Amino acid sequence: MDTHTFDLVVIGAGPGGYIAAIRAAQLGLNVACIEKEAALGGTCLRVGCIPSKALLESSERFADVKHGLGTHGIKVQGVELDLPAMLKRKDSIVRQLTNGVGGLFKKNGVTRYTGTGRLLGGGRVAVDGTQPVELQAKHILIATGSQVASLPGITFDGDRIGTSTEALAYPSVPGHLVVIGAGVIGLELGSVWSRLGAKVTVLEYLDRILPGTDTEIATQARKSFEKQGLVFQLGVRVTGAEVQGDQVVVTRDGGEPITCDRVLVAVGRKPNTEGLGLDAVGLETDKRGRIPVDAHFQTSVPGLYAIGDVIAGPMLAHKAEEEGVACVERIVTGYGHVNYDTIPNVVYTMPEVASVGRTEEELQAAGIPYRKGSFPFMANGRAKALAITDGQVKILAHAETDRLLGVHIFGPWAGELIAEAAAAMEFGATAEDLARTCHAHPTLSEAIKEAALAVDGRTLNY
Ligand code: FAD
Ligand code: NAD
Repeated sequence: MDTHTFDLVVIGAGPGGYIAAIRAAQLGLNVACIEKEAALGGTCLRVGCIPSKALLESSERFADVKHGLGTHGIKVQGVELDLPAMLKRKDSIVRQLTNGVGGLFKKNGVTRYTGTGRLLGGGRVAVDGTQPVELQAKHILIATGSQVASLPGITFDGDRIGTSTEALAYPSVPGHLVVIGAGVIGLELGSVWSRLGAKVTVLEYLDRILPGTDTEIATQARKSFEKQGLVFQLGVRVTGAEVQGDQVVVTRDGGEPITCDRVLVAVGRKPNTEGLGLDAVGLETDKRGRIPVDAHFQTSVPGLYAIGDVIAGPMLAHKAEEEGVACVERIVTGYGHVNYDTIPNVVYTMPEVASVGRTEEELQAAGIPYRKGSFPFMANGRAKALAITDGQVKILAHAETDRLLGVHIFGPWAGELIAEAAAAMEFGATAEDLARTCHAHPTLSEAIKEAALAVDGRTLNY
């Protein structure tokens, strides 16, 4: 078998792996990237961030034209859904972006191998596929990402009982969709199909939606989503789901079974390490199946690194990218760092939920003294003009230093607004710094300035 030698071999071409490969090539390394799927870009580009956002955008337009324009004094009749066209548009965006990664590899001189990467030890990686080959490298980076987690009592049938991947391509709008899990995927894809006309029931094990999100914000978001038609059943433990003809019967503890057309299981994801050859190099995963690494993404095996969904931390594309860059910069230059305190989180519902930094509950649990300021979008001129006034900006600042500790937004374009807060926190800003920054009028971002003023009890417009 042929052996090819590189400075760095990256296993997995998701946002963690492909960005790491490109950055390493920019820094002068001779880089190979192994990907088992035909398309590059990983979960994010193929079956995650990008297709879900394409459908969220299209379904939002549909719901708006169908139900929302009356508020603006616009009457529209005969609105029809062309689902195949909507799905085709999504597929075309995915194709453009995944092909784009191939172009970026060419531009940066990254060598692509198609096949499954398997660690052999001694700096060697087998590429199992139609053209098996062995690669040798001083540095190997595992960026194999994650896959859907399932539930005991539930077997995916690839059709009626499925994952986010199936929910990105249902051939028709389900009459009744049951979503298991009120996390990010449940809310985003539940919203898509609800807007397109499905009855959507979300079953959640906990007594709240969006665990990890600031509780006040999550409660406000739930009420807003309920107004849009999503039905939440909280504190529900699902025990099984069974296909019966064209329907699925979902069973749960202490409640009547629910009959529906489709089930979307969205109860989290688990790291991809099966068949990777971790035993060949003497690596063990932690209790949650993740690869343990040090602060520089180095595993216990010299020269072997891991980043992204396969290691600890939030399973987010931008977190994987930051880690990829920091990891290879550290290898080449000796420096490279990720600031985990300023990684934003966005849920692309309508309105969006976005945050950076600590929640109020986390500050309370840690005994950190804080002051809080909030400002409702109801009092923001631009939000009124948009006719999207649900939600608020909530800012948490240190009680003594005024330094920003957390910014939480539920409201229109929260996912874009949060960038200002992330940048401010990255520069160690105080609430006063935000309050003294001139924000254009009338913009949604004025709600951030006003919430910062509210930290000191001096909002001007509320
Ligand atoms: P992945 O993107 O999973 O990439 C890993 C790659 O490695 C895959 O292409 C896989 O085929 C390949 N691979 C695995 N094993 C091998 C092997 N042995 N050999 C060769 N190749 C291998 N995150 C956000 O930040 N924003 C969002 O809006 C968002 N939306 C999402 C929506 C959905 C429906 C889903 C499922 C996820 C979403 N995510 C989102 C999460 C995001 O997709 C992941 O956090 C991100 O893709 C992780 O990047 P990664 O590079 O670590 O892994
Ligand atoms: P999640 O962790 O966000 O939510 C899973 C939900 O399922 C939780 O609320 C959990 O309490 C619930 N749950 C767990 N077991 C259950 C059970 N037996 N019955 C009922 N409910 C149960 O996971 P997800 O929504 O599957 O998303 C997976 C990952 O993908 C997340 O880590 C997320 O970061 C990432 N993602 C990010 C985005 C984004 O950034 N916009 C979008 C989609 C996915």
